[in-house]
Order: sequence, then structure tokens, then C-alpha cells
Amino acid sequence: MSILTAHHLSKSFGALDVLQDVTLSLAHGQRAALVGPNGAGKTTLLHILAGMDEPSGGAVHRARGQTIGFLPQHADQELSEATTLHDLMRSVFAQLDRLAQQMRELEVALANPAQHDTAMEKYSKIAEQFEHAGGYTFELRIEQVLSGVGFDLGDRVVETILPPTYRRYLATFDEVCQGLQAHALPGARVERIQAPLKAVAARLGLVRYGRNNITYAAGIGSYLQLCGYVTDARLPATDRSPQPPMLRDECEGCETCRLACPTGAIGPGRVLLHAEHCLTFANELPGPWPEWVPATAHHCLLGCLACQRSCPANPRLEISDSGVTFTSDETRVLLGEVSSTDRGVDDGIRRKLEDLGLSGDEGVLGRNLRALLDRRCRAR
Ligand code: SF4
Ligand code: SF4
Repeated sequence: MSILTAHHLSKSFGALDVLQDVTLSLAHGQRAALVGPNGAGKTTLLHILAGMDEPSGGAVHRARGQTIGFLPQHADQELSEATTLHDLMRSVFAQLDRLAQQMRELEVALANPAQHDTAMEKYSKIAEQFEHAGGYTFELRIEQVLSGVGFDLGDRVVETILPPTYRRYLATFDEVCQGLQAHALPGARVERIQAPLKAVAARLGLVRYGRNNITYAAGIGSYLQLCGYVTDARLPATDRSPQPPMLRDECEGCETCRLACPTGAIGPGRVLLHAEHCLTFANELPGPWPEWVPATAHHCLLGCLACQRSCPANPRLEISDSGVTFTSDETRVLLGEVSSTDRGVDDGIRRKLEDLGLSGDEGVLGRNLRALLDRRCRAR
């Protein structure tokens, strides 16, 4: 289904025709790049598509309920001291901020019995728009980032990437727990649980499986970490009864992740993953690489992003510097080139792994880093 179409657009400035007879359509989930020399009219076209400028001729149709965000080309010029990149990204979702503000105002009116019914009717409509436009997840979508982790090799520093699902946000999980206890469920016990959360969330309908056996949440995609809590509070009954795990509707007829998989773990016409051939599992287990892992498959310090990055249901990931760079001594110890005899080096490695939430993974990091370095050497 097209979410944006343009028919026979033209744009003239006096005698100068910048655009002539431009027709295009953009389908749901499709990503497109506009390429052309300076002055070809790319920005003018984007302004018209975003509704920031009117065409001289032709028409643009946007699917109902869709919001268009526009991040200007010279974003850096718009970053003042008071404006961060995060603020700029938020400005793309300005319509959501407006809806959130309206909801907050209506929440005040809801407390007034004389205004309750009218306010509730308006509130329900706005809340539906807000949810439909991804309002409950937009902060998350802004922040879905890969962490860049550096290793000093003596003559150069190499940057590697750590998928967003690997950093352990333990402090955040604990904050949620404390928030639940202090505000939502005062007086009750709330504790984090260790459980097969993926299976539980799928059975509760909170997530659905992709063909790559990874779970996706509506409006977020697959770059998520699940956290479960138990409480002894008396909670209201919910109508969320267990259901069989479901495959995402969008996977029907889609082959994108299968074609992107470097090891053939996603079989044709098959929903069950060949987990025994999934790179993610291989690079979490210590020991020599199994022979079915091609040397060209390695691209992350841990895990594998090939199927998730290619999936149209996922947002584009930005790389953000984790602030962690292993010194050359630490890198050599991790690579197994020397054994550590220096307490400072050991402590440095331990602290950095803790910062990354990777304590306990040192046994595989050196081997994975070596595989990444070998692959880069081969590519030169
Ligand atoms: S790439 Fe296609 S088949 Fe694979 S998980 Fe995404 S939508 Fe499903
Ligand atoms: S994580 Fe990598 S190896 Fe595993 S199924 Fe996805 S693309 Fe294939």
C-alpha cells in the first residue's frame, strides 16, 4: 500500500522550471534515496512531499494518519548550544508532542465531573491518533543505536559495533522496578524475574516472531530487550489470555532476511530457524569457529545484525560512541597475544566490560575481534 504518492508535480520560480512532471509513490516500509547533482531540485521536491512547500502543478497524496518528519540537510547548522541532536530528532516528531500536550490538558479536565464525559470522548480520539502514530514508542525509536566500541591496536584504533540488544541496561531495569514500587504499586513487592521472556511475551501477544526467529513489538521493531517483573500486588484482571505465538503478517511472502543471512540459517519457506547455523549463537559460545561460519560473515563484536538490519520493519540504526576504547595493552590481552601480568590492565578490562554490560563475555570477545580484523584485512 502506498503511503505517499505524487502525480505530475512541477515547480517553477519565475521562468526557471525546477521540477517538471515528477510522479512517484512510496510504499509502506519502503526506503528510498534521492540522488542528483546540486541544484537538481532534490530539496524542493522533499519540501513539497513533506507539505512544507506548494507545487506549481500536480498533487501529493499522503495516506490518512501518516506523519511526515523532515530532518534538514544542514542539521548541524541548526544545532545551537541549547539544541542537541536528540532535540532535533524530537522536532521530527513535533506532531506527537502536540498530541501529548493535548492529552495532558484533557487529563486535567477528566478529573472534573462536569467535564468528564466530553473530555473522555476527545481524549479517546486523540489517544488513538497518538498510538497509531507511534507516540508511545517514539523516544525509543530515536534512541535505537548501535554502540561503537574501540580497540587500540598500537598503530591505529579500530571501531567495532555492538548491537543494541547486547548492552545490558541493568540500571534502567532497576529504575523501572523502583518506579513501579514507589508510584504504581506502593506497598507491594516488585521484583525482576529471570524467565523465558521472549516466549512469555509472544504468548501474551506483546510481540510477534519474524521469520528470523527474532521477536518484534508493534511500533518498535526487533531492537528491544525484554524485562519481566513479578509483584504480590492485587492487579485488575486483564483480558490478555495466552495465545499461540504468531508470525508477523509482513513476513508473508518476504524473503529479505533470508537473502541477507550470511550463514543460510533462515531456510526457504520455513518458519523455524536453523538455530544450529545462526551466527549469533556461534559467536556467543567460546571455542574455535564452527566450519559452517564463513570468514566473511563477521560484522559485529557480538551477535549478528544481518537479518534485523535488512528487515523493513526495523528503523535505521545510528552508531553512537559507547565511550569505551580498550588500550593497546588491554587489546593484546583480549586477543590472547600476551598474558596479563599487570593488575591495572585486568582491572581496566573488567571495568570496561562492566560499562558495556558484557561481564563474562571476555572469553569470546578476543576471538570475535580477531575474526573482524581478519575480515577487514581480507577486504583491503
Ligand atoms: S525481513 Fe521480511 S521475512 Fe524477515 S522478519 Fe522482516 S518482514 Fe519478516
Ligand atoms: S542472526 Fe545472522 S546468522 Fe542468525 S538468522 Fe539472522 S542473519 Fe542469519
